[in-house]
Amino acid sequence: MGEVLRVRGVALPSEESAEFWIAGGVLSREPVRDAVTVVDGGWLLPGLVDAHTHPGAERPGDPLDAELLRRHGREHLSAGVTLLRVPGSAGRLPGWFGTEPDQPRVVSAGRWLALPGRFYAGWARHVEAADLADAAVEEALASGGWCKVYADWVGDEHGLDDPPLPAGRLAEATRRVHAAGGRVAVHAQTAAGAQAAVRAGVDSLEHGLGLDVSLLDRMAAQGTALVPTFTVWETFAEVAKASRSRRFREWFRAAREGLGPLVAAAHEAGVTVLAGTDSYGTSVLPHGRVAGEVRHLVAAGVPADAALGAACWTARSFLGFPGLEHGAAADLVAFEDDPRADPRVLARPARVVRGGRVVR
Ligand SMILES: [Zn+2]
Repeated sequence: MGEVLRVRGVALPSEESAEFWIAGGVLSREPVRDAVTVVDGGWLLPGLVDAHTHPGAERPGDPLDAELLRRHGREHLSAGVTLLRVPGSAGRLPGWFGTEPDQPRVVSAGRWLALPGRFYAGWARHVEAADLADAAVEEALASGGWCKVYADWVGDEHGLDDPPLPAGRLAEATRRVHAAGGRVAVHAQTAAGAQAAVRAGVDSLEHGLGLDVSLLDRMAAQGTALVPTFTVWETFAEVAKASRSRRFREWFRAAREGLGPLVAAAHEAGVTVLAGTDSYGTSVLPHGRVAGEVRHLVAAGVPADAALGAACWTARSFLGFPGLEHGAAADLVAFEDDPRADPRVLARPARVVRGGRVVR
């Protein structure tokens, strides 16, 4: 057996002084003599989570690239993100991604599913509405248990007038995926798309621009999480600003302005709000920036504790991963100061441990 590590600090979210020993990649409360102390004081958290990221490609439409995948995974891990949910990728993710020690763990959703003509050519697996349920079950079973469906798509100046995926088809796909033990993430950028997703009882609503606040109670009751991805809208804002279509510019301005109050209301209503950056390219929208998403959640009015949980313990629990506890995999991140007090602290972890191995 390799050397035993020791960490101690104020654990979150419990705020208790905690001490763990790490052997065989697992956290233990049982003291071990002569352990090597790698965190001595400060704040201890279970590993961070980016619940919406697309590693492995540089530009929309590019095929999945193994080298980029590896690099993007390391960028996340170096930022303290030990768990990714990848809601859609250009191809099914290889087995090593998520299991190698220098990579975060991964919950994947297989290929993006969209109606013909929607989403980027080369990235989407295009399916007719009638074939959606079969394809959704197939992607969920072939991946990390999730599938990802486009309820609508407003990429540039097009899409605002396209009807969303029929709610009945989405509901049927959701029932079938649930029956197969899987979960459904749905992209929606319009009120109609978001409504179809909530009515279908999907597990997570991605983006949620234009979501009618009257649906928030239903989302809370049925356990549909909201992943607003504020980070990607910074990039999208540049695209919108440069657009010649006044209608498109106006649509985006209103949708973006409404998103902050919507997310605050969602949290208030008891909806699980999660932090996801929607990061994809190395240069376009870099990986390892979940701290910025937490800053956006706080700016929207989500309390600092809940905003941090959205990128940590709340997201881990939603995805079926434990917090800091005896017997859990030793995935943790440590900070010298309280990361709730200042999001800039969150961006600079003092220590990152993945599977019992110090990676930073
Ligand atoms: Zn995305």
